[in-house]
Amino acid sequence: MKVHEYQARDILRSYGIPVPPGEVVTSIDQAAQAYKKVVAEAGLGERGLAVVKAQVHAGGRGKAGFVKLVRSAQEAEDAARFMLTNKMVSVQTGPEGLQVTKLLVAAGVDIAHEYYLAITTDRKSRRNVLIASAEGGVEIETVAHKNPEAIIKTPLHPLTGLQSHQARTIAYRLGFKGKQINQAVKVMTGLAKAFVDKDCTIAEINPLVLTPATADNPEGQVLAIDAKFNFDDNGLMRHKDIQELFDPTEENPAELQARKFDLSYIALDGNIGCLVNGAGLAMATMDVIKLEGGEPANFLDVGGSASEEAVTEAFRIILSDARVKGIMVNIFGGIMDCAVIAAGIVNAAKQIGFKVPLVVRLEGSNVDAGREILRKAAGELPTLQAATDLGDAARKVCGAVG
Ligand code: GDP
Ligand code: MG
Repeated sequence: MKVHEYQARDILRSYGIPVPPGEVVTSIDQAAQAYKKVVAEAGLGERGLAVVKAQVHAGGRGKAGFVKLVRSAQEAEDAARFMLTNKMVSVQTGPEGLQVTKLLVAAGVDIAHEYYLAITTDRKSRRNVLIASAEGGVEIETVAHKNPEAIIKTPLHPLTGLQSHQARTIAYRLGFKGKQINQAVKVMTGLAKAFVDKDCTIAEINPLVLTPATADNPEGQVLAIDAKFNFDDNGLMRHKDIQELFDPTEENPAELQARKFDLSYIALDGNIGCLVNGAGLAMATMDVIKLEGGEPANFLDVGGSASEEAVTEAFRIILSDARVKGIMVNIFGGIMDCAVIAAGIVNAAKQIGFKVPLVVRLEGSNVDAGREILRKAAGELPTLQAATDLGDAARKVCGAVG
């Protein structure tokens, strides 16, 4: 599960990591008020620096023009108008872009240097790893590609986690000096603790910044000004506080609907809807469709114990996708009963209707009963073709969609 930056900032704060104050707004006129509030809270004077940032579950906002520095209530309002009335298109959104409905107005900071800091799990070493770089701010993938030695990776012990000597070594290697070292260590320690406590899959601060020296802070301050957390869905039941951060408006509606019925559904770009039982069979089905020159429109796994109602819902989800020009059902019944699938097909035919070609390959548990159900409902299934095996099914559906 992903959360918004403003929520991630709250988590950082709760682990003692310094983050500039911010306010979330959902309308253009709230932006001016929020500007005044955060600038005052941060003790910045007239024309104090603030930043208006789109709150969406996609990165690359800066480059897309959806992170804007402002120095007045009017500028904050103008930035908010732009972000709430234009779709954000970044490397992570796809060409159709994202509608932005929430903005963070945060106190801005002057930046002397930008760093990258993250914790994730390294599957190769089967440990959590702290990743740090003095070349933060930009896309870390680019740094990793062009200048891999600029990235410091430190494996963390499964029981003891990030140790203070490790954190200090990293802080030195990043170039922090004097009092900055303890500030950086505090940030790393807090992030490492949050990562484990909250069952994260990634906890990232990019950029972590060092502010220029001032009279109040002669060595500068180390602050987090952007944050990203992803959580392990399988750990969510332990974290009611994190569950409450879930934002359904950021999810694909069909995927959300599928989750309610315990279906694994992932929307893809093609035009052949697939209904399959088991993730392995779903992968094989998509491969064979591709081999026949087709493109799957989705990955839909009904699993082993779907009810007739869930199967009907699965077809409703597939048929609600206007790009679907044909459907392939590939069921290899083990625990799954072929009769349940057949009944689901007939229900979907009655409730929604199949206007596109439907190719069905049923095999295994209770298959004769399943075939009988389909045969009896032939009148309601004018586009149905039976297939003898996986290859035959893929050829038929690819042929039918052209
Ligand atoms: P992202 O592009 O979605 O990762 O959004 P970020 O919050 O990381 O912002 C992108 C870039 O905008 C940062 O790397 C900074 O260079 C700049 N930026 C963001 N906030 C501030 C700020 O408060 N002050 C200054 N000077 N620059 C900022
Ligand atoms: Mg960033």
